[in-house]
Amino acid sequence: MYVVIVGAGIAGLGAAWALTREGHHVTVLEQGPIPNPVGTSVDSHRLIRRPYGTEIGYMRMITHAYAAWNRLWADLGVKLCVDTGSLSMSAGANDRQAESLRLIKADGFPVLEMTAAEMAKRYPLIDPAGVRTAYLSPEGGVLLADRIVAALAKWLGEKGAKLRPISRVRSIDADGGAVTLADGERVAGDLVLVAAGAWVRELVPDMGEHVEPSRQVLAYVDLPDDLARQWANYPSLLSIGDDRGFYLVPPVARPDGTRTRLKIGDHLFSREGDAASDPRIAAFDEVRRVWEQARGRLRDLERYRLAEGKICYYTVDRRPGRETFRSVPVGKAAWAMSNCSGHGFKFGACIGEAFTDMVAGHRSADAFTRYVAGEIS
Ligand SMILES: Cc1cc2nc3c(=O)[nH]c(=O)nc-3n(C[C@H](O)[C@H](O)[C@H](O)COP(=O)(O)OP(=O)(O)OC[C@H]3O[C@@H](n4cnc5c(N)ncnc54)[C@H](O)[C@@H]3O)c2cc1C
Repeated sequence: MYVVIVGAGIAGLGAAWALTREGHHVTVLEQGPIPNPVGTSVDSHRLIRRPYGTEIGYMRMITHAYAAWNRLWADLGVKLCVDTGSLSMSAGANDRQAESLRLIKADGFPVLEMTAAEMAKRYPLIDPAGVRTAYLSPEGGVLLADRIVAALAKWLGEKGAKLRPISRVRSIDADGGAVTLADGERVAGDLVLVAAGAWVRELVPDMGEHVEPSRQVLAYVDLPDDLARQWANYPSLLSIGDDRGFYLVPPVARPDGTRTRLKIGDHLFSREGDAASDPRIAAFDEVRRVWEQARGRLRDLERYRLAEGKICYYTVDRRPGRETFRSVPVGKAAWAMSNCSGHGFKFGACIGEAFTDMVAGHRSADAFTRYVAGEIS
């Protein structure tokens, strides 16, 4: 089959990888360079983690995600994920972290529960004040997102897939399996996959009823040498609830010997902004607000230096409190894929494989849509 993919983020390239492995022909059209730094997938890291609140399907899909990443590392000849584990902590006894713990234990995934005092002893950089729930999930890690996107693009090129940067798609012919580029060129295949991230509504307006862009702010932090050495052995931190979205990505070593920076983010959705027109300039105050979340969670905060802010776009489920992905057929020969809600990178490879299964007829369209929505048992 010939598949025309719009968007060279992890959704588009993950599908392109899985399709190419199964012998399909792929053309990937990207409006910017590949990798595109304004795309949601292009940042130094993205977390993979087992704790998933009440979203039991996504918690279970982590097993599929790891299996798919392992197949990808084998193809690329390099593992672009650093295993760190993830430490969840919260002030509540019945909140999202506690619910994650209950479900992880119910499914028998490994987890190490700690009291606040035990956590403080094991992780002295963390402030245990007020912490009521703390546990380490040894399975999490840091996916080296920008390196993965670049390596996937290189692998695809070597396998004969066509990658076309600076090729903005103006419209899709959802029944004809074709797209029209901004310069009027028509690119036709048997099937179109729109994996256009925060721009998806421009090509598939119906998606706008279900998902919306959400401008998110990140803070990058520089550390003195002694703290950098200590953080190198820390897990990622999660303290995400209804009213807070604090997460921290520790600095990790890349395979080439360089190191990523410590990063602090806020998972609460802003539900504001427009990915197409936003110049991605982070104002000092908004970066500072994200950074301030670390107060009361990290000790000796005055020793950390806020170095840089970044703007990145989530594409989120419009329903309050929901973080579901949406992948649906459009017309007779197209699909729209919006797998973000702020946590979609980790599933890029496994959803690409599931899409390919569906294309091959091994899985129905409905089963695929339900799978990406996390409806699995
Ligand atoms: C701050 C932040 C933190 C996150 N943390 C995590 C995390 O820890 N773990 C996790 O799993 N996920 C995380 N995510 C979510 C994850 O990054 C996204 O789910 C994922 O990257 C979405 O990939 P995508 O391919 O759908 O979109 P994108 O990466 O944005 O790719 C879409 C591409 O389509 C291109 N495009 C758009 N319109 C057109 C057009 N008309 N023609 C041609 N090309 C077009 C765009 O230029 C873009 O390159 C985070 C996201 C953000 C913003």
